[in-house]
Amino acid sequence: MLILGALLPLSAQASVRILACEPEWAELAREVGGDLVDVKSAIAPGQDAHHIQARPSLISQVRRADMVLCNGAELEIGWLPVLLNRGGNPAVRQAPGLFMAADQVSRLEIPDHLDRADGDVHAKGNPHVHLDPRRVETVAGKLAERLATLDPAHAQQYRDQQAQWQQQFDAQITQLEQKAAPLKGLGLITHHRDWSYLMDWLGMRRVDELEPKPGLPPTPAHLAALVDTVKKQNVSLILYRPENGSDASKWLASRTSACAVEMPFSPGEKGTTTLVSLYQRIIDTLLEAREQCHG
Ligand SMILES: [Zn+2]
Repeated sequence: MLILGALLPLSAQASVRILACEPEWAELAREVGGDLVDVKSAIAPGQDAHHIQARPSLISQVRRADMVLCNGAELEIGWLPVLLNRGGNPAVRQAPGLFMAADQVSRLEIPDHLDRADGDVHAKGNPHVHLDPRRVETVAGKLAERLATLDPAHAQQYRDQQAQWQQQFDAQITQLEQKAAPLKGLGLITHHRDWSYLMDWLGMRRVDELEPKPGLPPTPAHLAALVDTVKKQNVSLILYRPENGSDASKWLASRTSACAVEMPFSPGEKGTTTLVSLYQRIIDTLLEAREQCHG
C-alpha cells in the first residue's frame, strides 16, 4: 500500500473522506478541499434537510468517514444523532471529526424563550445560514483550519486553497451585490422561514411565512390573514421551494397583487453547481420575478 501510494501523483489521493449532510456544505468542502477531499452528501438537492431517514447506505458512509460536515444549529436534530449513533464511528461523533457549519457563525432569530407551541423553533436560532455568503466565508475559513487539523500533512495546502477560493469568491460576491441592488427593500413572504439570511444579506424585508409557525403546514386561517398582510405591508413576492409544494403560494398569489416564485435553495437545483452560481441564480430569479410581477 505504501509503495503504491508513493507512486501515485499526490492529486489523485483524497486524504479526507467527508460525509456532508447537505449539498451546500458538500459543495463548500469541495471548493475549499479540492483534490484533498472526497465528499459525499447525505441529502440530494431538493430534499428537505429537516427530515431524512438514517438509511443503511448512510450508516456505512458514516462508518467510513473522517469528517461529518453538517449544518448544525439543530437543523438535523431529528435524524443526525441517530445516524451518528448507528454509524458507530467515534472519530466523527465530536470535534474535530464532526464539524457544524452554522455553529461557526452568528445566527439570526435566537429565541429569548423556548415554547413547544411556537412550532419547530430552534434554541440556537435560525439554522439556514448558507444563503448569506459572508457567513459562508467565515465557515470556509474555519473548515480549512479543521481540515488542516485532521490532515496535518496538507495543512498549508488547505490554507492556500482556502485563501485562493476566498479571493475569487469575494470578487464574485461583490459583483452579485451590485446586481442585486434593486432588490433592496423588497417585501417577501416565504413558505418556510429558510430565507432570512438571504434577506439579511441583500437588505430585503421579511414580512411573514406561509407556515403559521416554523415547520407547521399552512392553515386556511393563516393564509386568509396573509391576504391582508400582503396589501398592508406591500409584499411583492411569495417564495417557495419545490419540496414545499406550490399550492399555498399560488393560492395567496391568486388573491393578492403578489407573485408566487419557485426558488432554488441548494447547489444542484435549477442547473446550479457552485455556491456562487446558486446565489446568481437566486438573484436572477428574484430580479426577473420582480420585473414580471410589477412590469
Ligand atoms: Zn427550517
